[in-house]
Amino acid sequence: MSSQDKVEKALLQVFDTSDIRLDPASLQIYAKDWTTYYQPKASAVVFPRESAQIEDLVRLCQKNRWKLVPSGGRTGLSGGAVAKDAEIVLSFEKMNKILDFYEGDAQIRCQAGVVTQVIQDFASEKGLFYPVDFSSSGSSMIGGNIATNAGGIRVLKYGNTRNWVTGLEVVTGQPKRLQLNNGLLKNATGYDFRHLFIGSEGSLGAITEAQLQLTRRPLSQTVALLAVASWEDILEIFKLAKKSIDLSAFEVISELAIEKLCSASKIPKPLQTNPKLYLLMETESYQSESTPALESFLDEILTHELASDGSLSQNSQQAAELWSYRENISESLAPYKPYKNDVAVRPSQIPSFVRDLEQLVKERYGGLEVVWFGHVGDGNLHVNILKPDSYSIEEFVELCRKLDSEHFKIISKYRGSISAEHGVGLSKRDFLHFSRSSEEIQYMREIKKIFDPFEIFNPGKIF
Ligand SMILES: Cc1cc2nc3c(=O)[nH]c(=O)nc-3n(C[C@H](O)[C@H](O)[C@H](O)COP(=O)(O)OP(=O)(O)OC[C@H]3O[C@@H](n4cnc5c(N)ncnc54)[C@H](O)[C@@H]3O)c2cc1C
Repeated sequence: MSSQDKVEKALLQVFDTSDIRLDPASLQIYAKDWTTYYQPKASAVVFPRESAQIEDLVRLCQKNRWKLVPSGGRTGLSGGAVAKDAEIVLSFEKMNKILDFYEGDAQIRCQAGVVTQVIQDFASEKGLFYPVDFSSSGSSMIGGNIATNAGGIRVLKYGNTRNWVTGLEVVTGQPKRLQLNNGLLKNATGYDFRHLFIGSEGSLGAITEAQLQLTRRPLSQTVALLAVASWEDILEIFKLAKKSIDLSAFEVISELAIEKLCSASKIPKPLQTNPKLYLLMETESYQSESTPALESFLDEILTHELASDGSLSQNSQQAAELWSYRENISESLAPYKPYKNDVAVRPSQIPSFVRDLEQLVKERYGGLEVVWFGHVGDGNLHVNILKPDSYSIEEFVELCRKLDSEHFKIISKYRGSISAEHGVGLSKRDFLHFSRSSEEIQYMREIKKIFDPFEIFNPGKIF
């Protein structure tokens, strides 16, 4: 019997034939996320329908020394859901039910494989709002969002996924099934393991169910897109805005990002001028179709000469059009095989951090094109280096990893983060020490040993 037949025979003790895939195409597809630099190699893909099957699967893994890679929508950007060492991929695709709606608490309980946008739409049907949002929401799953503590475009107002998780069910590597916090808003009874699993990137066990808080739905969003000459001016605008308006988003897009997007999508540039930076600001309103506060704030900015040009949405369609310039950047860069970094410093440090990094690239990595964009109001910048045609993928990655070491030294100088919201996964693992002390990393290892003593879940990721 071939080794694959043996794996299948054992998996059939837990799963129906239709919930196991071993064909080469599925092994390729499910062993990958959005990163392009790892060679996928999985030994099987399984699709549990309920938590009990995951407990049985963990027992099989203990017996056969198998490893598992939990897998959601595979939109991750750090290789966290990549299987490259013959692991079994544990896909949550079929655990996709919304189980309960608790109207009095404005909460839902759902399985981990519900797609983020399905949760947003469900909340909307109930007259409520699930505010965590980003351009991959149509494919990412809530389990993956929780495992990465996903952020997105409105963190400034609503915070990360962590803020919205009131309960979790998890299966650990022992296996034990734990119910964590049960939807409570107050619970001062010792360590809150829920928060350990949030952001654990599949390394402590499987997140099988989640209870989520919903909130009041804003009636409308008003969006302004402004032409700004420098990062210093962006910071000035941010300082003024903090004092006078309630921002829900504050995003920056570099000129090169707009250029690549417009030429890939064959759309006109959004403004008449060609500024160094585009600033997208959003406010939300619970009363009417527009927010006069943003309009008068724009007057203030123009009076201070902090922006040279701008466009203000007059309705939701125009707001969506302005957002599309920000949301479609990642897809438009994909053909350039960008090497991505997702870093954070405090917002006030952004101008000097950008200056330092631009200088490093210019002096030591001349010729590389760097595309900047990101959630600048959270201090979070996406730094995308485009692959020059003359480089093979291997040469390019080698060069970028060399650059990473110098880039992350700069991050370290600012006491920033080498991964603001995409996680550590495989791609940032070797650089974790730039953001976390050796004592902290040792504590992480010890915590993993408690929940996953046989190292079944996502070995080799994070540290
Ligand atoms: C175009 C684009 C835009 C993006 N924008 C943002 C953004 O603005 N903000 C942001 O934070 N991210 C963003 N991302 C990254 C990504 O969408 C998020 O990290 C998302 O949360 C990943 O969810 P997923 O279901 O795709 O997880 P996957 O990629 O499948 O997995 C991510 C990690 O979670 C683990 N995991 C998945 N499911 C489970 C589970 N049930 N139990 C335990 N572990 C699990 C995996 O093992 C892996 O380590 C973007 C990605 C793309 C492609």
